[in-house]
Amino acid sequence: MLSVRQALETALRQTTRLPVESIPLLESAGRVLAEDVITDVDMPPFPRSTMDGYAVRSEDVRHAPARLQVAGMIPAGSYPNFSLQTLQAAKIMTGAPLPLGADAVQMVEKTRVLDDGSAVAILESVPAGHNVSPFGSEAHQGEVVLPMGTFIAPGVIGLLAAVGKSQVAVYRAPAVGILATGDELVDLTAKPALGQIRNSNSFTLYAQARQAGGKPQLLGVAKDTKADLRQRLTTGLQFDLLLATGGVSMGDLDLVEEVFAEFGLEVFFDKIAMKPGKPVVMARSPRGGLVFGLPGNPISATTVFEVLVRPVMRKMMGFPVYQNQMVLATLTEPFVNRSGRENYAPSVTWYEERRFMVRPLKSKGSGDVVTYAKSNSYLICPIERTELSPEENVVVMLRPDFFYG
Ligand code: AMP
Ligand code: MG
Repeated sequence: MLSVRQALETALRQTTRLPVESIPLLESAGRVLAEDVITDVDMPPFPRSTMDGYAVRSEDVRHAPARLQVAGMIPAGSYPNFSLQTLQAAKIMTGAPLPLGADAVQMVEKTRVLDDGSAVAILESVPAGHNVSPFGSEAHQGEVVLPMGTFIAPGVIGLLAAVGKSQVAVYRAPAVGILATGDELVDLTAKPALGQIRNSNSFTLYAQARQAGGKPQLLGVAKDTKADLRQRLTTGLQFDLLLATGGVSMGDLDLVEEVFAEFGLEVFFDKIAMKPGKPVVMARSPRGGLVFGLPGNPISATTVFEVLVRPVMRKMMGFPVYQNQMVLATLTEPFVNRSGRENYAPSVTWYEERRFMVRPLKSKGSGDVVTYAKSNSYLICPIERTELSPEENVVVMLRPDFFYG
């Protein structure tokens, strides 16, 4: 049986980046750049005042207070057609270009208007360069400001806008098909009859796939029959990634694996030493789509998504790093792991007094969606540890929920 690490390595080895597409800037947040972006302007494009105040020649105000003649006024958006002579200043607004001859700006609070504005008193001296962003100090025209592989965070969007990129080359977002299987499953609009439960996995996985940057689509619920599985797989295998839940535990596995074989799927593993989620199938169709057969148990399915599928999606989308965020946290209470597998326990993690703290939740099992919904992370108990003690430093895998919750 593969360890979690081996399964992840295998899964990533079988994953390739998706092709590049060009999309409008506003749609590109959350994607990964597939091109080096160069700037078509110098940044800033002129020596720019960072304050409202007076542009001066620093040598004129070395001894303050100094009285200077006001040669003009420069609002943002204008360009000065004069230069500063000795003992002259120019009134200047934030974001406006310095006139030739000026090398510093004194903020308005440290000045006093004289002679109805025709002169000014600079009350404190300013060194050269003070309150000025020099020409080209951030980047020069033609320079790469964002390398290929950059994650498009809001700050990156701002820079793309600043260099005039209205269309951006990014890696395509994976189309993710989501298929539930199980004769006991009913739609969420139905009141389950005896022996039935509502299909919840499809909705959890839809939200996760979308959160991970994919384009999910629900493919309904398959009955536990070869004929129905066959029919829905025909659709499902057209996706970049197919997530099926249920039907991979001991009783059902043969059925799913038989149908996979009919479609010529290459299976890379069908169980991993992970709790929750021992039965996990990963395969690839002859057309290239990846398939995960996730356990039906809701907590198992969602956890295996975080541990294996999210990194796979990150690789598809061109992220330079695939791993989830891990931190060391102080355990608040004892934890017991009798599974003989690497245990991913739903937990609450928080930051307090210069350290992360983690509290594993008292789950009633891998179907306990009530407890799981309170978690924001997983405490990871290594395979060889049967017990963890309070105050121990343990590894925690953060979910995106940690940052938004
Ligand atoms: P299975 O892996 O098909 O043996 O299912 C394991 C457990 O998960 C059973 O209790 C199923 O009823 C439950 N289960 C399977 N699929 C779903 C689903 N889509 N939503 C909620 N629970 C499910
Ligand atoms: Mg089932």
